[in-house]
Amino acid sequence: AQNRHRSPDETNVQVVVRCRGRSEREIKENNQVILSTPGGPRGNEVQISMGPMSLANKSYMFDRVFGPEADQSMIYDDVVAPIVGEMLSGFNCTIFAYGQTGTGKTYTMSGDMEDYFGTFSDGAGIIPRTLHNLFHKLDAEASEYSVKCSFIELYNEELRDLMSIDDAVKLRIFEDSTKKGGVVIHGMEESYIKNAVEGVSLLQEGSRKRQVAATKCNDLSSRSHTIFTITVHVKEVSEDGEDLLRSGKLNLVDLAGSESIGRSGAENKRAKEAGMINQSLLSLGRVITALVEKSSYIPYRESKLTRLLQDSLGGRTKTCIIATVSPAKLNLEETISTLNYAATAK
Ligand code: ADP
Ligand code: MG
Repeated sequence: AQNRHRSPDETNVQVVVRCRGRSEREIKENNQVILSTPGGPRGNEVQISMGPMSLANKSYMFDRVFGPEADQSMIYDDVVAPIVGEMLSGFNCTIFAYGQTGTGKTYTMSGDMEDYFGTFSDGAGIIPRTLHNLFHKLDAEASEYSVKCSFIELYNEELRDLMSIDDAVKLRIFEDSTKKGGVVIHGMEESYIKNAVEGVSLLQEGSRKRQVAATKCNDLSSRSHTIFTITVHVKEVSEDGEDLLRSGKLNLVDLAGSESIGRSGAENKRAKEAGMINQSLLSLGRVITALVEKSSYIPYRESKLTRLLQDSLGGRTKTCIIATVSPAKLNLEETISTLNYAATAK
């Protein structure tokens, strides 16, 4: 490819898998466990075992594989904390939760957050833990800083502001002429927060708004994406007494259920006509593949999701995909499809 304007080591895509334990339903139905994580809590292999000698047995390698024994703090410490460090050193970073509905995307991203008043419960997910640890780090290390958050939802290629009081405000994406590769979202609320409690309460209120809308619209919660973005500005004084301003951003994305990508992708005409295929999810896969292959053309413009995240995908950025899966046989087909999607990002 000619005109390669991104140097090889700038973009960094990491892919990890999280396999939850069996759900109550899966246990009650006595549904067979077919997924195993032979490397233990610090392994990087996931195996599909359909019985001895079965031709369906398969093994995948990822940067990291978390089995059911991995708790929320392990995910944070091993995957998220280094990325928070990258954000503070000026990178734009994105963490995606990708997987079939019911496999733990929202649990991983948000988890329990209802009782956060400065210390979180064991069930708290990535967003509350990130806010908590970020302010700890900033208070300890930075002399002057600001932190702001936004929280939006993308459904059917339409944007909704989960932080706005006024639902009628339409969000629109514009190219940002002042910074290369970025977009501006007209109408979007951005709140400066002074501490983690304020950030978690924005997350709670937005999640509640989403829940209310989801009870009216059946497939909203499984077919919509949410993006919680934290932007940090840090002012430092250099050794020779000059002011240095650094900024970084972290997008925490709870993606639509991967089943909405359609079993046979865009080939599935009926699903396409019924609007069952999630354009943003498909195009995200193409963008990540293009980034991993160091392609000279990255198709950001094909969907709203990739346009929104354009300044955080490719170039001087860090990306992490957490693929969530069920261990039970009944979800085998979706699990394979999730692992294949995740494997192409490697
Ligand atoms: P998704 O957002 O992918 O549709 P959820 O996060 O809502 O899935 O998870 C479905 C259910 O499974 C929830 O009740 C959630 O609390 C539970 N769950 C998911 N992952 C885990 C996990 N690793 N440990 C404990 N419970 C989990
Ligand atoms: Mg969810």
